[in-house]
Amino acid sequence: MEQYEMIWEYQQTDMELEQYEREMRNNSNRKELIKYRDFLLEQQAALKKIEGEVDVMSDRVEALVDEVSRLNKSVEEYKKQLTENPPEDQSKAHELVTAVEKLVSRISHYEAEIAKLRKDSEGRDRQQREVRVRAAKARAEFDRIKAIYDEEYKEASKQLEVLRGKVAEKAVGIDKQLLEKYQIIKRHSTPPITRIRDGRCGGCNMQLPAADMNKIRTGEPFVECENCGRIILVR
Ligand SMILES: [Zn+2]
Repeated sequence: MEQYEMIWEYQQTDMELEQYEREMRNNSNRKELIKYRDFLLEQQAALKKIEGEVDVMSDRVEALVDEVSRLNKSVEEYKKQLTENPPEDQSKAHELVTAVEKLVSRISHYEAEIAKLRKDSEGRDRQQREVRVRAAKARAEFDRIKAIYDEEYKEASKQLEVLRGKVAEKAVGIDKQLLEKYQIIKRHSTPPITRIRDGRCGGCNMQLPAADMNKIRTGEPFVECENCGRIILVR
């Protein structure tokens, strides 16, 4: 058998293998698994984000609680001063009252913020629980499909090995350089070997130049397409 007939047959089997690999990649359970995996990763990221927010909130609450206790102490001190060392005149008394009022106002402002932060934090806890429930459901579904897919994959892998064996068999006797060329063309144009069709490349449909047509007339068994790089068999 001529080299170019052999590589043509090799290509048929190689394309069958490619088709099979494509079908394996397109397996519906495999696609579902990828979807669930992506979803689970999203949930993990969501949990991490919430945890970060909760951390920031509790740091803030802690700081506010400290500040409120410090301010309360100051208020106590003013009160003590009022009883132990009463102001001498009205203006001093007024000063003291204003200072205390300011402190009390700041305290209530901070307490409101603490209450709000605590409420928000509870909301985040709820969110976390919801995310965890969703993730657990998805995880269970992932595991269920994975068990089915693993079986399918085991079977498909056997078939894949058979096809790979066939491809290897077909490669026997083919010139090494020609096989290499085939692999190189395959990277950009597949299938790499085509036939001539009405003076055109059977792969990309480009009209063959006169020089190539002349080669064919003088009995050349193949030409290479200037456009797509494929090997064009003449017969
Ligand atoms: Zn072409």
